[in-house]
Amino acid sequence: METTIKAHKICLNPMPEQEAYLRRAAGTRRFVYNWGLDQWKQHYAEYQAGQRARPPTAYDLKQQFNAIREQEFPWTHDVTKCVIEGAFDDLGKAFSNFFAGRAKYPNFKKRNKSHESFYIANDKFSVGDQWVTVPVLGDFVLKERESNGTQTEKIRNRRKYQRKLGKVNLAEKLRFVVSDCSKKAGKRRQERKKVSSPSVKIVVATIGKSGGYWYISIQVAIPRVPVVNTQPALGMDVGIKESAIVSDGRRFENQKPLSKYLTKLKRLNRDLSRKQYDPDTKQGSKNREEIKLKLARLHGQIAHIREDTHHKLTTAIARTCSVVGIEDLHVKGLVKNRKLARAMADAGLGQVLRFLETKMQAAGGVAVLVDRFFPSTKTCSQCGHVKKRMPLKYRTFICMKCGVMIDRDLNAAINLEREARRIVRDVLHLPVPDSGSGRT
Ligand SMILES: [Zn+2]
Repeated sequence: METTIKAHKICLNPMPEQEAYLRRAAGTRRFVYNWGLDQWKQHYAEYQAGQRARPPTAYDLKQQFNAIREQEFPWTHDVTKCVIEGAFDDLGKAFSNFFAGRAKYPNFKKRNKSHESFYIANDKFSVGDQWVTVPVLGDFVLKERESNGTQTEKIRNRRKYQRKLGKVNLAEKLRFVVSDCSKKAGKRRQERKKVSSPSVKIVVATIGKSGGYWYISIQVAIPRVPVVNTQPALGMDVGIKESAIVSDGRRFENQKPLSKYLTKLKRLNRDLSRKQYDPDTKQGSKNREEIKLKLARLHGQIAHIREDTHHKLTTAIARTCSVVGIEDLHVKGLVKNRKLARAMADAGLGQVLRFLETKMQAAGGVAVLVDRFFPSTKTCSQCGHVKKRMPLKYRTFICMKCGVMIDRDLNAAINLEREARRIVRDVLHLPVPDSGSGRT
């Protein structure tokens, strides 16, 4: 059976001791990754000098690491071994992306600069309605409790505590999964798992920190349901003033969360710069750390508002059409234009494209990326006359040939719809759906 992989990102509410573990696990992952990258560089130099028979691989490096782990890095045993495996997997992926020309040469990960995260393999954790177990967390927390400050107390009956401490609270229930209430949870790990619906398989989970909060992203493989989509074709013009204008006349407003919170952001940044910071030890004052957290949370809030609007917008479109034509905007190039940069970044158009592509696919439709040099704004949607220029300040398209007057963005959306239908017919050789705008 064909399956599709979906991820659900859930906010974690860790206790302080649990957070210490998460931080340590992410730190260990960063260390191991950097160690591997450093070794890779050395091995490669030796290989080029003829001292080694073959180039380095992530697998070889992992073996090498595990051989000296006990001796040189005993502290890595404080966290689950998934952290180490995940780090080498990531290193291998980073290099294969580099060799395939998809990414730049891998960089060392920096504390506070790189995304803090680590993997947990699917057989190492269990999920319940409101909790997730993180491997080795229970032992770690016990150790922390025993060496509580200066006094060391031995906790008796450790087994009783272990599982409770190893559970991190989840802010919401894992989607896609219907737990079977008739079965009582067993004592063994496999039986303890609440995920009992047979069609769902957990693939992997990643725990990471973003926007001042810890999250777990659980990937599940669920069966793919084939759908026949009979909706008409649409064109969509993405913009700055409004997120999207659809060829059937719908308009989606852009909430511009960044401009809304800009004053607040600026104030926090100013406060941050006034707090004490020692560049030698890279240690900031307590107040500084507090403001840093506030700042991270505000950035997270802005990203969430943007993500929410984009999800709603793309879902609404994916539900009402089988083909959508959308301009393949060269987002990076546009953001380099300084005047437009902030507004463009605030609109987050790359995310819209990404969401739309996956959602259209899931709904059995196609998102057609129209070439970015296609003159969607300069062409008359009525007679096909192409203007030489159409500066951004003109909000209405007036055709010199047939005299039609139409909103600039709606005109572009109709042109995109027409172009998408042409591509579906001539390039993809698929049956052409009806026109959503009624202009064929
Ligand atoms: Zn015209």
